[in-house]
Amino acid sequence: MARDGIVAPPTSSLDADLDVDVAIVGAGLTGLWTAWALHQLDPSTSVAVFDAHRIGYGASGRNCGWLSAKPVGVRRVLARAGGRESVVDVERALRRSMHDVVDVLGAKTIDARHGGALQVARSASQQRRLDDYVAYNRSWGVGEEQLRALSGEQAYQRVRVAGLTGAVHTPDNYCVDPVKMLFGLAQHVVDGGVAVYTDSPVDTVTAGMLRVRGYTVRVRRRVVVATEGYTASQPGYRRNLLPLNSSMLVTEPLSDEQWERVGWQHADGLSGSAHTYFYGQRTPDGRIALGGRGKPYRFGSAFDDDGRVDAHTVGQLLATLTELFPDVSLTAAHAWCGVLGVLRDWSPFVDADSQPGVIRVGGYAGQGLTAAHLAGHTVADLITGRQPTAAAWVRRMPRKWEPEPLRWIGANALYRTYTVADHLEGRSTHSRTSRLALAANAIAGR
Ligand SMILES: Cc1cc2nc3c(=O)[nH]c(=O)nc-3n(C[C@H](O)[C@H](O)[C@H](O)COP(=O)(O)OP(=O)(O)OC[C@H]3O[C@@H](n4cnc5c(N)ncnc54)[C@H](O)[C@@H]3O)c2cc1C
Repeated sequence: MARDGIVAPPTSSLDADLDVDVAIVGAGLTGLWTAWALHQLDPSTSVAVFDAHRIGYGASGRNCGWLSAKPVGVRRVLARAGGRESVVDVERALRRSMHDVVDVLGAKTIDARHGGALQVARSASQQRRLDDYVAYNRSWGVGEEQLRALSGEQAYQRVRVAGLTGAVHTPDNYCVDPVKMLFGLAQHVVDGGVAVYTDSPVDTVTAGMLRVRGYTVRVRRRVVVATEGYTASQPGYRRNLLPLNSSMLVTEPLSDEQWERVGWQHADGLSGSAHTYFYGQRTPDGRIALGGRGKPYRFGSAFDDDGRVDAHTVGQLLATLTELFPDVSLTAAHAWCGVLGVLRDWSPFVDADSQPGVIRVGGYAGQGLTAAHLAGHTVADLITGRQPTAAAWVRRMPRKWEPEPLRWIGANALYRTYTVADHLEGRSTHSRTSRLALAANAIAGR
């Protein structure tokens, strides 16, 4: 795979037994940042990364490229162990991570554009949720310089979305080219002497040992499992992380005249406030990349077929674009999907306690680009005996998701409920959030 001259570093599959200090399962952003951070903290540590497929086969190679410092997880959940200050600390650390990623990999190399993020509201209830969101953030000490409320008119100056009632804007976001970011990081990791093995599925994970393609990997210090949405395929872990699907569509390039009508003459990421959320960026080559709808969850925590999406999903994403920009006719050029890992309490974890000798990490619920950097550094801190940078994330995985068929019925019924709630809210002038959506939130545990 290549992107504008940037290619993934060459890798091969494991073809002999191996001895290493640290073995990492998963060559996504979490696995790679963990390897990078370990190399920085202790270059004498030997590290090997194994992926069942290729570098960035998972969400790390399929995302929308928002490198954001938006808080990850649920604050009240993360505050349980270390209190409010630990959550504020982790949010500061996320902001540092966001800038560090760009500094380490180079803004030019990864096409990083620092605009911010704009979340728009298009109905009275969406607007009320945004107002509540601002008030909630203020109660956590988030000031005007980090999160600013915009009127419908001010929002329209930034992007000409139909039916705007208002928006919030934060400067804490870069839009990046996700594949350039992934390959840039992988190159740094390989240049640092880390061995990356692809087409090398890990079948058995125990303290001090992995089995990979019939070979034995003896691990002197620690095994790290960074398989996020794919964790469900491991024995004993089927119900820990729900593989939630998200789909992406990239349009053909827009003409100057179309951009004129769309507005969006800046690098803000754009997202909505409906329960069935969308997110997008304006790409450097003049397209819109939009993420959102799709099949939310497959029975038995199954995965997609190498990212393929059906015509229905493409149609849904195009319909979202048409709702946003009804005067502009847009054509799909590419579409794909991927899975993100969601824990029962919707918050990230770095779990060094549940299995001796093994650290499990992930659960960013769709916000992993910056979080993977922070989580990777936190894992490396734990391995090298330092204070963890993201102390609030260091915790055991919470209770599991429900068994099937409850999981499938629940996930899909909730998604349908949110769709109906959006429809009802869109037709109403009331600012109340639909009772259906409130009930769905309570069941989902959000
Ligand atoms: C469509 C979409 C859009 C998104 N957009 C954004 C965004 O704009 N901003 C943002 O912050 N986040 C976004 N996310 C989420 C983000 O991409 C993820 O949170 C992040 O990439 C997770 O990285 P990871 O390394 O933990 O997991 P992954 O990238 O999923 O990597 C896990 C790896 O583990 C490997 N693996 C699994 N099992 C095994 C095994 N047994 N042996 C060996 N290897 C194995 C897989 O092959 C995979 O490569 C998006 C996600 C999706 C799906």
